[in-house]
Amino acid sequence: MDGLSVSDFYSSLTFFSTSVSEVVPTLRQQLISTLICPICKLIFRSPISTCSLGHSICFACATRFGKCGICASALVAIRNYTIESQLALVEVNCGFPLCTSWVKASNLYDHLGKCEFR
Ligand SMILES: [Zn+2]
Ligand SMILES: [Zn+2]
Ligand SMILES: [Zn+2]
Repeated sequence: MDGLSVSDFYSSLTFFSTSVSEVVPTLRQQLISTLICPICKLIFRSPISTCSLGHSICFACATRFGKCGICASALVAIRNYTIESQLALVEVNCGFPLCTSWVKASNLYDHLGKCEFR
């Protein structure tokens, strides 16, 4: 290691881990924000509908409007597998005040149906 003492090396490691722990919640927050229907503000639930311009809206909103609720374009028969697979990766809290369990976003609605704190 040219010009870097061992203690410098460890302090740079510490710095690295500090910045990661600060960045991860932000990334997580950003990821979750992409998994929320822009119309009803609820976490997407499969199947997710996509309009011809590429907006994604939840199935309930697609059923309610019969077209894109953002730009009014026609909905296309394409499932948004990207969002669906992200739902299986990120964990969310169900939101009932006493419930401390974290569930996969893809299992959120199952959990809400049987959460003991609802
Ligand atoms: Zn919606
Ligand atoms: Zn649209
Ligand atoms: Zn719960």
